[in-house]
Amino acid sequence: MIITKTSEEIELIRESALIVSKTLGMLASEVKPGITTLQLDALAESFIRDHGAIPGFLGLYDFPNSLCMSPNAQVVHGIPNNTPLVDGDIISIDCGALKNDFYGDHAYTFEVGEVAPEIKKLLEVTKASLYEGIREFKLGKRVGDVGYAIQKYAEDHGYGVVRELVGHGLGKKMHEDPEMPNYGRRGRGKKFIEGMVVAIEPMINMGTKRIKQLKDGWTILTADGKPSAHFEHDVALINGKPELLSTFDYVHEALGIKSDEEDEFRAKKMNL
Ligand code: MG
Ligand code: MG
Repeated sequence: MIITKTSEEIELIRESALIVSKTLGMLASEVKPGITTLQLDALAESFIRDHGAIPGFLGLYDFPNSLCMSPNAQVVHGIPNNTPLVDGDIISIDCGALKNDFYGDHAYTFEVGEVAPEIKKLLEVTKASLYEGIREFKLGKRVGDVGYAIQKYAEDHGYGVVRELVGHGLGKKMHEDPEMPNYGRRGRGKKFIEGMVVAIEPMINMGTKRIKQLKDGWTILTADGKPSAHFEHDVALINGKPELLSTFDYVHEALGIKSDEEDEFRAKKMNL
Protein backbone atom coordinates (compact mmCIF):
# COMPACT_ATOMS: atom_id res chain seq x y z
CA MET A 1 0.00 0.00 0.00
CA ILE A 2 1.30 3.45 -0.90
CA ILE A 3 1.62 5.65 2.20
CA THR A 4 1.08 9.28 1.18
CA LYS A 5 2.73 12.03 3.22
CA THR A 6 1.45 15.34 4.54
CA SER A 7 3.33 18.46 3.47
CA GLU A 8 4.94 18.56 6.94
CA GLU A 9 6.13 14.98 6.52
CA ILE A 10 7.48 15.75 3.06
CA GLU A 11 9.54 18.59 4.55
CA LEU A 12 10.98 16.13 7.09
CA ILE A 13 11.94 13.75 4.27
CA ARG A 14 13.49 16.72 2.48
CA GLU A 15 15.55 17.48 5.59
CA SER A 16 16.89 13.90 5.65
CA ALA A 17 17.41 13.86 1.88
CA LEU A 18 19.41 17.11 2.06
CA ILE A 19 21.67 15.64 4.75
CA VAL A 20 22.43 12.89 2.24
CA SER A 21 22.95 15.49 -0.51
CA LYS A 22 25.42 17.37 1.70
CA THR A 23 27.19 14.12 2.61
CA LEU A 24 27.64 13.31 -1.09
CA GLY A 25 28.89 16.87 -1.63
CA MET A 26 31.45 16.43 1.17
CA LEU A 27 32.55 13.09 -0.32
CA ALA A 28 32.91 14.63 -3.79
CA SER A 29 36.00 16.51 -2.55
CA GLU A 30 37.46 13.36 -0.95
CA VAL A 31 37.02 10.86 -3.79
CA LYS A 32 40.47 10.61 -5.35
CA PRO A 33 43.11 7.99 -6.12
CA GLY A 34 44.61 6.50 -2.92
CA ILE A 35 41.66 6.89 -0.57
CA THR A 36 39.85 3.73 0.53
CA THR A 37 36.12 3.24 0.57
CA LEU A 38 36.35 2.45 4.28
CA GLN A 39 37.94 5.88 4.89
CA LEU A 40 35.14 7.53 2.92
CA ASP A 41 32.59 5.54 4.92
CA ALA A 42 34.04 6.80 8.22
CA LEU A 43 33.96 10.41 6.96
CA ALA A 44 30.33 10.01 5.92
CA GLU A 45 29.25 8.46 9.21
CA SER A 46 30.75 11.36 11.24
CA PHE A 47 29.26 13.91 8.85
CA ILE A 48 25.77 12.40 9.07
CA ARG A 49 25.90 12.21 12.87
CA ASP A 50 27.23 15.80 13.06
CA HIS A 51 24.07 16.81 11.19
CA GLY A 52 21.84 15.23 13.83
CA ALA A 53 20.95 12.17 11.79
CA ILE A 54 21.71 8.45 11.90
CA PRO A 55 23.31 6.65 8.94
CA GLY A 56 20.30 5.11 7.24
CA PHE A 57 22.00 1.96 5.95
CA LEU A 58 24.07 1.06 9.03
CA GLY A 59 22.44 -2.08 10.43
CA LEU A 60 19.55 -1.94 7.96
CA TYR A 61 18.95 -5.59 7.00
CA ASP A 62 22.27 -6.05 8.89
CA PHE A 63 24.31 -4.00 6.38
CA PRO A 64 27.68 -3.41 8.13
CA ASN A 65 28.46 0.20 7.09
CA SER A 66 27.03 3.66 6.47
CA LEU A 67 27.63 3.78 2.71
CA CYS A 68 27.11 1.29 -0.08
CA MET A 69 30.32 1.67 -2.11
CA SER A 70 30.27 0.02 -5.50
CA PRO A 71 33.32 0.58 -7.74
CA ASN A 72 33.51 -0.19 -11.46
CA ALA A 73 31.71 -3.47 -12.24
CA GLN A 74 29.89 -3.42 -8.91
CA VAL A 75 26.31 -2.28 -9.42
CA VAL A 76 25.09 -1.59 -5.88
CA HIS A 77 25.38 -2.79 -2.27
CA GLY A 78 29.19 -2.96 -2.27
CA ILE A 79 30.72 -3.08 1.21
CA PRO A 80 33.43 -0.50 2.05
CA ASN A 81 36.91 -2.02 2.33
CA ASN A 82 40.62 -1.19 2.53
CA THR A 83 41.34 -1.23 -1.19
CA PRO A 84 42.44 2.22 -2.38
CA LEU A 85 40.64 3.78 -5.32
CA VAL A 86 42.82 4.16 -8.39
CA ASP A 87 42.93 6.64 -11.25
CA GLY A 88 40.29 5.77 -13.85
CA ASP A 89 37.92 4.04 -11.42
CA ILE A 90 34.32 4.98 -10.97
CA ILE A 91 32.65 4.63 -7.59
CA SER A 92 28.91 4.54 -6.99
CA ILE A 93 28.14 5.88 -3.53
CA ASP A 94 24.70 5.24 -2.10
CA CYS A 95 23.92 6.99 1.17
CA GLY A 96 21.00 7.02 3.59
CA ALA A 97 20.15 9.23 6.56
CA LEU A 98 17.44 8.91 9.19
CA LYS A 99 16.22 11.99 11.07
CA ASN A 100 12.88 12.81 12.68
CA ASP A 101 11.82 9.22 11.88
CA PHE A 102 12.08 9.79 8.11
CA TYR A 103 14.67 8.51 5.67
CA GLY A 104 16.60 10.19 2.89
CA ASP A 105 18.27 7.89 0.34
CA HIS A 106 20.26 9.00 -2.67
CA ALA A 107 23.24 8.10 -4.77
CA TYR A 108 25.85 9.43 -7.19
CA THR A 109 28.52 7.76 -9.29
CA PHE A 110 31.83 9.61 -9.05
CA GLU A 111 34.84 9.61 -11.35
CA VAL A 112 38.20 8.89 -9.71
CA GLY A 113 40.92 10.91 -11.42
CA GLU A 114 40.81 10.66 -15.20
CA VAL A 115 38.13 8.31 -16.50
CA ALA A 116 37.91 6.85 -20.03
CA PRO A 117 35.49 8.69 -22.36
CA GLU A 118 33.24 5.63 -22.82
CA ILE A 119 32.82 5.38 -19.05
CA LYS A 120 32.09 9.11 -18.75
CA LYS A 121 29.38 8.53 -21.33
CA LEU A 122 27.86 5.74 -19.20
CA LEU A 123 27.66 8.12 -16.23
CA GLU A 124 26.11 10.91 -18.32
CA VAL A 125 23.49 8.63 -19.82
CA THR A 126 22.62 7.03 -16.48
CA LYS A 127 22.13 10.43 -14.85
CA ALA A 128 20.07 11.65 -17.80
CA SER A 129 17.94 8.49 -17.64
CA LEU A 130 17.15 9.35 -14.02
CA TYR A 131 15.68 12.69 -15.14
CA GLU A 132 13.81 10.97 -17.97
CA GLY A 133 12.18 8.85 -15.28
CA ILE A 134 11.49 11.71 -12.86
CA ARG A 135 9.76 13.64 -15.65
CA GLU A 136 7.13 10.87 -15.83
CA PHE A 137 6.45 10.92 -12.08
CA LYS A 138 3.30 13.00 -12.19
CA LEU A 139 -0.44 12.76 -11.74
CA GLY A 140 -2.13 10.67 -14.42
CA LYS A 141 0.95 8.47 -14.91
CA ARG A 142 1.85 5.08 -13.53
CA VAL A 143 4.87 3.17 -12.28
CA GLY A 144 5.38 1.63 -15.73
CA ASP A 145 5.70 5.08 -17.34
CA VAL A 146 8.75 5.94 -15.23
CA GLY A 147 10.32 2.54 -15.88
CA TYR A 148 9.62 2.75 -19.59
CA ALA A 149 11.24 6.19 -19.89
CA ILE A 150 14.41 5.09 -18.08
CA GLN A 151 14.68 1.83 -19.99
CA LYS A 152 14.07 3.44 -23.39
CA TYR A 153 16.70 6.11 -22.83
CA ALA A 154 19.34 3.69 -21.54
CA GLU A 155 18.70 0.98 -24.13
CA ASP A 156 18.71 3.53 -26.97
CA HIS A 157 22.32 4.16 -25.92
CA GLY A 158 23.07 0.44 -26.06
CA TYR A 159 23.25 -0.13 -22.31
CA GLY A 160 21.79 -2.84 -20.08
CA VAL A 161 19.11 -2.02 -17.50
CA VAL A 162 19.34 -4.03 -14.28
CA ARG A 163 16.04 -5.79 -13.58
CA GLU A 164 16.50 -7.35 -10.15
CA LEU A 165 17.00 -4.11 -8.20
CA VAL A 166 14.50 -1.27 -8.20
CA GLY A 167 13.57 2.12 -6.76
CA HIS A 168 10.95 2.37 -4.06
CA GLY A 169 8.60 4.43 -1.95
CA LEU A 170 10.35 6.34 0.84
CA GLY A 171 9.22 7.52 4.27
CA LYS A 172 9.37 6.14 7.78
CA LYS A 173 10.71 3.02 6.13
CA MET A 174 13.63 3.03 3.71
CA HIS A 175 11.72 0.77 1.35
CA GLU A 176 8.00 1.37 1.01
CA ASP A 177 5.49 0.68 -1.74
CA PRO A 178 5.52 1.01 -4.63
CA GLU A 179 8.50 -0.75 -6.18
CA MET A 180 9.87 1.49 -8.94
CA PRO A 181 11.54 -0.68 -11.60
CA ASN A 182 13.86 0.96 -14.12
CA TYR A 183 12.08 -0.86 -16.92
CA GLY A 184 8.43 -1.24 -17.75
CA ARG A 185 5.52 -0.65 -20.04
CA ARG A 186 3.68 2.60 -20.56
CA GLY A 187 0.37 2.90 -18.74
CA ARG A 188 1.01 -0.15 -16.56
CA GLY A 189 1.45 -0.54 -12.81
CA LYS A 190 0.27 1.46 -9.82
CA LYS A 191 -1.16 4.93 -10.38
CA PHE A 192 0.74 7.85 -8.88
CA ILE A 193 -1.06 9.82 -6.17
CA GLU A 194 -0.57 13.25 -4.66
CA GLY A 195 1.70 13.27 -1.61
CA MET A 196 3.63 10.10 -2.40
CA VAL A 197 7.42 10.08 -2.14
CA VAL A 198 9.70 7.78 -4.10
CA ALA A 199 13.38 7.09 -4.64
CA ILE A 200 14.05 6.72 -8.36
CA GLU A 201 17.37 5.03 -9.02
CA PRO A 202 18.46 3.67 -12.40
CA MET A 203 21.26 1.10 -12.29
CA ILE A 204 22.66 0.99 -15.82
CA ASN A 205 25.32 -1.38 -17.13
CA MET A 206 27.69 -0.69 -20.00
CA GLY A 207 27.21 -4.26 -21.22
CA THR A 208 24.76 -6.96 -20.28
CA LYS A 209 21.85 -6.27 -17.96
CA ARG A 210 22.62 -9.51 -16.15
CA ILE A 211 24.10 -9.39 -12.67
CA LYS A 212 25.61 -11.71 -10.10
CA GLN A 213 26.13 -11.51 -6.37
CA LEU A 214 29.33 -11.99 -4.39
CA LYS A 215 29.51 -14.58 -1.62
CA ASP A 216 29.43 -11.73 0.93
CA GLY A 217 25.65 -11.81 0.42
CA TRP A 218 25.58 -8.13 -0.52
CA THR A 219 27.71 -7.00 -3.44
CA ILE A 220 25.91 -6.99 -6.78
CA LEU A 221 28.12 -6.85 -9.87
CA THR A 222 27.70 -7.08 -13.62
CA ALA A 223 27.82 -10.60 -15.06
CA ASP A 224 30.26 -9.53 -17.78
CA GLY A 225 32.59 -7.46 -15.59
CA LYS A 226 31.86 -4.23 -17.47
CA PRO A 227 31.20 -1.00 -15.51
CA SER A 228 27.86 -0.03 -14.03
CA ALA A 229 26.52 3.37 -12.88
CA HIS A 230 23.87 4.35 -10.34
CA PHE A 231 22.20 7.71 -9.71
CA GLU A 232 19.30 8.22 -7.30
CA HIS A 233 17.03 11.08 -6.28
CA ASP A 234 14.20 11.38 -3.75
CA VAL A 235 11.09 12.89 -5.31
CA ALA A 236 7.68 13.95 -3.94
CA LEU A 237 4.52 14.32 -5.98
CA ILE A 238 3.28 17.81 -5.16
CA ASN A 239 0.55 19.70 -7.03
CA GLY A 240 0.53 16.86 -9.53
CA LYS A 241 4.20 17.29 -10.42
CA PRO A 242 7.58 15.86 -9.39
CA GLU A 243 9.41 17.92 -6.77
CA LEU A 244 13.01 16.98 -5.99
CA LEU A 245 13.75 16.56 -2.28
CA SER A 246 17.42 15.67 -2.81
CA THR A 247 19.96 17.60 -4.88
CA PHE A 248 23.28 17.07 -6.64
CA ASP A 249 24.06 20.78 -6.23
CA TYR A 250 26.53 20.12 -3.41
CA VAL A 251 28.35 17.56 -5.54
CA HIS A 252 28.36 19.88 -8.53
CA GLU A 253 29.65 22.75 -6.40
CA ALA A 254 32.50 20.60 -5.05
CA LEU A 255 33.41 19.40 -8.55
CA GLY A 256 33.05 22.81 -10.19
CA ILE A 257 30.24 21.60 -12.45
CA LYS A 258 27.66 24.13 -13.64
CA SER A 259 24.27 22.47 -14.08
CA ASP A 260 20.64 23.47 -14.37
CA GLU A 261 19.45 19.87 -14.74
CA GLU A 262 17.35 20.00 -11.56
CA ASP A 263 15.64 23.34 -12.15
CA GLU A 264 12.54 21.90 -13.82
CA PHE A 265 11.87 19.73 -10.75
CA ARG A 266 11.95 22.48 -8.17
CA ALA A 267 9.08 24.73 -7.18
CA LYS A 268 11.57 27.20 -5.76
CA LYS A 269 15.27 27.75 -6.35
CA MET A 270 17.53 26.09 -3.80
CA ASN A 271 19.59 28.26 -1.53
CA LEU A 272 22.84 26.49 -0.76
MG1 MG B 1 19.96 4.46 -2.29
MG1 MG C 1 17.03 3.63 -2.81
